[in-house]
Order: sequence, then structure tokens, then C-alpha cells
Amino acid sequence: MAQHALTAPTPSSFSRTTRDARLGQLDDTSFDLLVIGAGITGAGIARDAAMRGLRVAMVDKGDLASGTSSASSKLVHGGLRYLEHRQFGLVFESVSERARLGELAPHLVRPLPFFFPVYRKRPRPVWQIALGLSIYEALALYRVPKRHQTLRGARAREAFPTMNPDGFDGGVVFWDCATDDARLTLATARAAHDAGAWVLPYTEVVEFVVHRARVGGAVVRDRFTGASHTLSARVVVNATGPWTDRTLGLRRQRSRLLRPTKGVHIVLPADRLPLGATITIPREDEHFVFAIPSGERVLVGTTDTDYDGDYDSVQATAEEVRSLLAALNGAFPGAHLGPDDVVGSWGGLRPLISPHGDHVDPMAVSREHHLVEDEDGLITIAGGKLTTYRLMSAEVVDRVARRLREDGMHVGRCPTAAVRLPGGDGIRWEGDALVTTGPGGRDADAELVERYGPDTARHLRQAHGGRWLDVVGRAAREPALGERIVPDLPYLWAEIDHAVHEELAVTLEDVLRRRTQIQIRARDQGASVAEAVAERMGGLLGWSDADRQAQLDHWAGCVAAQESWREDWSDADEDDGQQEPDG
Ligand code: FAD
Repeated sequence: MAQHALTAPTPSSFSRTTRDARLGQLDDTSFDLLVIGAGITGAGIARDAAMRGLRVAMVDKGDLASGTSSASSKLVHGGLRYLEHRQFGLVFESVSERARLGELAPHLVRPLPFFFPVYRKRPRPVWQIALGLSIYEALALYRVPKRHQTLRGARAREAFPTMNPDGFDGGVVFWDCATDDARLTLATARAAHDAGAWVLPYTEVVEFVVHRARVGGAVVRDRFTGASHTLSARVVVNATGPWTDRTLGLRRQRSRLLRPTKGVHIVLPADRLPLGATITIPREDEHFVFAIPSGERVLVGTTDTDYDGDYDSVQATAEEVRSLLAALNGAFPGAHLGPDDVVGSWGGLRPLISPHGDHVDPMAVSREHHLVEDEDGLITIAGGKLTTYRLMSAEVVDRVARRLREDGMHVGRCPTAAVRLPGGDGIRWEGDALVTTGPGGRDADAELVERYGPDTARHLRQAHGGRWLDVVGRAAREPALGERIVPDLPYLWAEIDHAVHEELAVTLEDVLRRRTQIQIRARDQGASVAEAVAERMGGLLGWSDADRQAQLDHWAGCVAAQESWREDWSDADEDDGQQEPDG
């Protein structure tokens, strides 16, 4: 590989070693801020606060992004739905953040065409949809990759020949963005670490520390060793997403802020459903099923149901898979998609504010997020979405700063709008291509394509941004790491080493589900490579044979849960595939 790749600087380590060393020092360290939860919200708060100079610790009972922040539709979007309700402020906020995130992390905010089809003037006539899109683009101050395009009659059928022609009036093509939610969270957490925050995954808050009726820290438990530590902090923020009420409950006060609902996605091979754009298939309840092209796969979701099951294992049911397949078969009647086409699935809980919750004013429900400061000083942030996480984080840290200023501490303003996320330097979109502008520039891109092929080259740039050099540098030093892990997916073995050393991957599941998406994209969910990946990780992390087997057993349990819907699938479900689109 090119010389620049071999000599690329290795960033400072972000690994289990750093985590363990810091955990050992917790009892003797005091912090300005403890953030509970390392989803996108917690990571955003930790980054913002650390960049303002605060001493920050962020803990999560699992991996970074192991909650809802790896279970979204993976879109960075303005929310067309808000337009329907004339919530122009919300749309403006979201589309502005979409543009901002595109500047801060171009690799993680991928422009994507969408097609909004109209059947028999439903959900609205084509001209009304087009008008809505004009407003959407105006609110974005026209910072969109391309302007929308109205397609009617034959032109629409030509552009989308596999769509159901029955009653098809045409529709509108417009642009929004896709992301990798877990990697966006990871990049944000990494930025927090680089700014000095202590990032401690697999560290669960089991109790609050309370002095004179004020929350002053928490007792945390190392999920690997069981050891407890006391973490002291002047301010504590609860950013535990769907677990918000449970975390509040650790103070033995019953609180109800949320009414989480469940959303499920399925993954199909792209050759079974070739799409030139994300198709928005309207459902009866004003929501959409998105069919999102994503490299060699199509991601399809979501459903929306109430949930009272296990928050730590939210899985698709046969009924939910059936309803998504039915929506697809209605929109694409020639596709004849069935359960055997589904290679993976995931479920997540929306941390929605309950309109009947404690301390909730009705505006909070429409604003999507809610910030509460209790009498004992605990600050809780709940709700929100990936797209606006940076703004939400700034609001929380402003509140934290106000508290610290009361104690005489100087805290600056939010600096996050102008500083790129890790990987965001040295890369930018030119038309439909993400190109390297850093060391090596276009020559490096050309070499990357020549060496690894266009799919892997695209994947490396999109996943790692300007830091792809670090990944291929590892492959240059050890050529076997330049091979693909799974033949029809673009991931390289070098990414396993990178994940362990630079991305705080600690378990096999961290690597197979969130640093890569092998678990939801591989036709066998990664079963044929899991042992080899565990072997490699074990070598890097010093696992014994028993450790390695425990990792494999845990991961196999995760996959069994993910795939459990198949056991409940019945022939009756399969017959129900040909439904008209709801629109
Ligand atoms: P989480 O990511 O759930 O993080 C909370 C963390 O707290 C978890 O990691 C958990 O392990 C940790 N935790 C809990 N209890 C404890 C404890 N006691 N000690 C330590 N840690 C603890 N938004 C968009 O912008 N675009 C989309 O396309 C989109 N699609 C979505 C689709 C679905 C189906 C869903 C469910 C949501 C979607 N969202 C989308 C919304 C977005 O995903 C969420 O708002 C966001 O991920 C919530 O992040 P969070 O950090 O608040 O929560």
C-alpha cells in the first residue's frame, strides 16, 4: 500500500486498557460531571462538557450505543412528519443540524435520495407533497444535495418500474441523509475521550450517592469483575434513554417521564429488492415504512407498538416481520419477499415523552425532548433524536454550567458547532462521492479502490472518514488483515484490530453488532466467522480459552434472540404478503 498509509499517525489509544486503568482510579478522583448513559445523548453531553474544560466521567452499563442509539432507522433527517403538524421550528432545527453534522462528520452523514410515492391522491395529491418539499428545502435554506423533483405518470413508472402500478399517480424525489447510528455515537464518545472525558462502558450505576439531600455521584459496578466503585461528581446527568424512569427509580422515588414504544427493522439483500432511492411507504397511522438502500443490503423499518418486555433485549417478532414484508410486497408486488429473504433484524425503544408523565408540560411532548432538574439536583434529559443530539447536549451542558457557576467555577460557551468529529477531517462529499482531501488525496483514493475494490473503499471512507488510513495501515503491516471478514460484506480484518485498539470494543458482540454490522447484515449473522473473530480479539485482549468461549456463548445468545421470530413464523404469516400500500 502507499507509503503515506504506512506512515499514518496512530491516534492515542481508546481501548479496554484505558477503561480498566481509569476504573481503578475512580474512588480517588472527583469529577465536575457524571453522565449516566453512553448513547448519542450521553456521548454528546460528555463531548460538549469536556470541550468546555469540565472533568467528565461517562458510564454505561453496556457498550457505547448499546441501547436505542444502535437501533434507529439510521437517518439524519429533518422530519417531514413535523411539517404535517406545522411544527416549522422543529423542522428548521433538524434540517439545520443535518447540515451542521454534514460539516462536522461528512463520512457519517451520507446524502440519500428518497422517493415519496402517491397512490390515488393519497396520502395527499402529488402537488401538495411537492409543495411540502419546497417548504422543507426552504427551511433548510436550500442546503440540500439536490432540489426535489416531481415525477408524474409514465416518468414515475419509468423511474420506479418495480413499484405497484395500480393507482400510482407518481410522487416526489427529495434528499435527506443516512448515517451509521452506532458509529456516530462512537465518534462522539471518542471526541469526548480526546477532550479528556473518562469513557467507561460496562460500568453500571446501581445507586446514587446523596449528601445533604443532593445527588453527589453514584456507586457503579464493573460488569466484568463485579467490583463496585464510588464516583463523586458535582453534577450528575441521567441520559439513559428508555431506561430513564428506571434510573430515576434508583432514588426510590417513582417517576414516570416516558412511554417508550418499540420499532423494528429488517435487513434484506439488495439483489432481492434493488432500489434507486429510499422509498417511503405510507402507513395508516401517518408514519412511514422506509426501505433504505445501504450498500449490499436494504434496511426496512419501522413498526411502532407499545412495549412492556425486556428493555435489554428488544427483538423483532414474527408479527412485526410479517407486517414489514407485507408493506414491501404491497409496494413491490413482483418482489415476492418472504422470511427467507430476511438476513437480519433489530428492535429498539423510542424514548418518547409521556403526555401523562410527571413534570411534563404539553409542549415538551411536541418538542421531542425534555430536560428536568429535580430538587436533589439530578438533571434528566429524555426523548430527542439522533439528528438533533448536538443541540440537546448543548442545552444540558448550559444547565450544568449554570450550576457550576453558582459554585464560582468558570465555564465557557458550547464549542461543538465548529469542531469536527474524529474522522471528519480530510474527507468531503463531491457530488455522489466521498473523497479524501487529506494526506494522499485522490491518489490515495485511487490506490484504495485498486487494492480493496470499490465497495470496501467506499465502506472504509464512510465508516472511518479521514482515519481510514489508520485501518489500511494495519493491513499494510500485516497483509492478512487486508482480507474481507465475510466475502460479500466490505469489512476488513484490520477493522477488528482497529476496533479493539481505537474504538473501545471490548466484547465479541461490540465488534460484530456495532463496530461492524456483520450480525445484522451477514446471511448467517456471522456464525461462520465468529470463532475466528473471537480468536483474533482474544489475542489482542488477552482472553483465556474460557473467556473466549464465554464471549462466543454470549454472542450466540444474542443471535438466537435476534432470530427467535423465525420459530414463531407460520405459513399463515407467509400467505399474507400481498397487501396494497396504505397510501
Ligand atoms: P440510548 O441510546 O438508549 O442510551 C441510553 C444508554 O443508557 C444505554 O446505552 C444504556 O445501556 C444506558 N444505561 C441505562 N441504564 C443505565 C445504568 N443504570 N447505568 C449505566 N448506563 C445505563 N432518530 C433520528 O434522528 N433518526 C432516525 O432515523 C431515528 N430512527 C429511530 C428509529 C427507531 C425505531 C427508534 C427507536 C428511534 C429512532 N430515532 C431516530 C431516535 C434516536 O435513535 C434516539 O432518540 C436516540 O438514539 C436516543 O439516544 P439516547 O442516548 O437518549 O438513548
